[in-house]
Amino acid sequence: MSISDSGTLEAAREGGAIRFTFDNSYARLPDRFYARLDPTPVAAPRLLKLNTALAERLGLDPAALATPEGAAILAGNRVPEGAEPIATAYAGHQFGNFVPQLGDGRAILLGEVVAPDDKRFDIQLKGSGRTPFSRGGDGRAAFGPVLREYLVSEAMAALGIPTTRALAAVATGQPVMRETPLPGAVLTRVASSHIRVGTFQFFAARGDVEALRILADHAIARHYPEAAQAANPYRAFLEGVVARQAALVAQWMLIGFIHGVMNTDNTSISGETIDYGPCAFMDAYDAATVFSSIDQMGRYAYGNQPRIMQWNLARLAEAALPLLGETEEAALAVANEVLASFAPAFEGPYIGGLRTKIGLSGDRMGDAALAGDLLKAMAENGADFTLTFRRLCSAAEDEAADTRVRSLFTDPAAYDAWAPRWRARLAEEGDPAARAAAMRAVNPAVIPRNHLVEAALEAAMQRDDLAPFEALLDSLSRPYEDQPGADEPPTPAEMPYMTFCGT
Ligand code: AMP
Ligand code: MG
Repeated sequence: MSISDSGTLEAAREGGAIRFTFDNSYARLPDRFYARLDPTPVAAPRLLKLNTALAERLGLDPAALATPEGAAILAGNRVPEGAEPIATAYAGHQFGNFVPQLGDGRAILLGEVVAPDDKRFDIQLKGSGRTPFSRGGDGRAAFGPVLREYLVSEAMAALGIPTTRALAAVATGQPVMRETPLPGAVLTRVASSHIRVGTFQFFAARGDVEALRILADHAIARHYPEAAQAANPYRAFLEGVVARQAALVAQWMLIGFIHGVMNTDNTSISGETIDYGPCAFMDAYDAATVFSSIDQMGRYAYGNQPRIMQWNLARLAEAALPLLGETEEAALAVANEVLASFAPAFEGPYIGGLRTKIGLSGDRMGDAALAGDLLKAMAENGADFTLTFRRLCSAAEDEAADTRVRSLFTDPAAYDAWAPRWRARLAEEGDPAARAAAMRAVNPAVIPRNHLVEAALEAAMQRDDLAPFEALLDSLSRPYEDQPGADEPPTPAEMPYMTFCGT
């Protein structure tokens, strides 16, 4: 850290021993794509958690990152050699309203690391100080939301769902002012890129077709290289984003994940889950479930997620119109054709996934209705989403295990009415033990239960005790293993639950 001529703190730039294999393709795009600036240093960086396995996967040295010099980098106090820190520009529809300029208001992209397998990853510090895009915000993040994103994004990765990852959480030693002063923290987020639907909207809103083309070419090279060979590369690009996002939402639906703030600036072009603000996992199955305190209208409720994703992709198609055809009419025709592919691209993996969840490998008439009737009975009887499917795994090989499933329904008779139909269908499948094992590979035993996440964050924040956080993280890293104690639904006192956005 050093003091500049203007008296402000600046991040130290002298080369250190910690090596990042940076190759910063986004920082080579035109100036109007971002603002160049260093993170703002913090008072007292202290490493709370380092993701050793992810560091190794990226080709970084975890031992070096765990030193005070490493913590200084992860806090933004020291800029590693080869980094070209930028805050990226984007726009976005927030709860349906267009905001022409958002951008990284509290995040700085240090650069892109090329991993030993040649895959490219953004290394971004979130909570790293004000930027030209901060508007009224302080550019900082509090302990709680940082540890929450760490836990939930790593849980999603372990569940096998495309997501940004958490490399580290560092305490800043500085309070952030929210309703009350809270301890501050910085999250190091790793993503295959941070290009969003809102990034396209930023340039579309300015009528900057040249920038749109440059951005689309960049996104194609980075995420959809096969599209470059297509007759209409931009159409193929749009098709790729639609396919990946449809598959992503299907995966969310199949594990009861509610993103909570599906604004277009939080919808990634790569198809990864991004921006873990008010997200939460559903307990009792109910399509209307909303956890976010700011989502008063239920726009981003569990059951609305596919429709909202399609709406967000329509905003991407709209922004990309100048690239899609020679005339507006031709471009609109292309956009509409591609958007029509969303429904089948969602329904295929969603229905197929439900079938797998109840142990059906073949595809028979009536399978979707069978799964749908189970969901209906669960909704009418407050059955816990995760536990119902997990306990069905045992019931699939041993009818005696029905007792543990039916007890999850307020009226167990609802399960009793459904189970014989299921068993009759299961009889057409193969070996019961193999079927149960296949079910256990897709129906998690553990998810980030809201009350457990809160308890871990509270211990960390109030008592500086990271043991519950570590224990929960460890449990969430093996979600498909039965774990003692993880097989009980939350008590009524542990529900309902409310999340608070982006603070
Ligand atoms: P989010 O709700 O996290 O997706 O953020 C929406 C927009 O608000 C983005 O442009 C963020 O960069 C910005 N933002 C959120 N929190 C802050 C903050 N504390 N300081 C500055 N900008 C922020
Ligand atoms: Mg965001």
